[in-house]
Amino acid sequence: MTDIISVEVDRRLCVLCAGPNDCVMAKREAGEEAEDPCWCVGQSFPDALTKKANKVDGGASCICLSCLEAGA
Ligand SMILES: [Zn+2]
Repeated sequence: MTDIISVEVDRRLCVLCAGPNDCVMAKREAGEEAEDPCWCVGQSFPDALTKKANKVDGGASCICLSCLEAGA
């Protein structure tokens, strides 16, 4: 037994709005082509927003750009 919780989440979807988050890592995980760097590189995510996201899925999925802009 491990302590790793396996959750069926589509990491390509925004944790907050369930829209596509365009995350490069998540796309690769799903076998899609994706180009570096991810749009999130160089963005700053406000604490309140990441906390909210962590509460939902433990930080498994990324936040999309529109949620970042809405919450920033
Ligand atoms: Zn979103």
